[in-house]
Amino acid sequence: MKPFAGGCIERCGLALRFALSRPGVIAIPGMATPDEVRQNAEIARLPQALTAEEMKIAAAERERLGTRYCRRCDYCQPCPSEIPIAFAMHIPSIRKRMGDAMMQTEFIKGVHEKIGSCTECGECEERCPFDLPVRDLIKEARQNLAEVLESKCDAGE
Ligand code: SF4
Ligand code: SF4
Repeated sequence: MKPFAGGCIERCGLALRFALSRPGVIAIPGMATPDEVRQNAEIARLPQALTAEEMKIAAAERERLGTRYCRRCDYCQPCPSEIPIAFAMHIPSIRKRMGDAMMQTEFIKGVHEKIGSCTECGECEERCPFDLPVRDLIKEARQNLAEVLESKCDAGE
């Protein structure tokens, strides 16, 4: 699942080819448009392993995602403040995909409030197997959502 890391990977074609070149792997990529379906089907029809040069590009992408990419495994839960941590980690990519206008919902307002209840206890960081700086990322997510909600005010002025 998620060979494009929930939309965080920029070189989707390389990611899909890499996944399909692994023994026993069937990829289930997300697709939003008919063009994406066509592109992915073309890659899957004749999958080609990455060249040494392409492996370097993939390694650079992995480096870019580095220690800040959440795998949505939820091992950090339960949060005592009931914060949807994995969802919060992906707010920037959700925002990129949906656009601010589509995010003007009561649900998003609720998430913004909920994130604000983080006590910075750090329990999530102790449980995260990928050592993500969850507290910092939660703060960034809150700031990100504040910008989304402010953009509504700007539009209404
Ligand atoms: S630091 Fe914040 S997000 Fe993490 S467990 Fe504590 S309250 Fe929840
Ligand atoms: S444990 Fe870490 S990687 Fe997994 S959902 Fe929580 S923050 Fe993301």
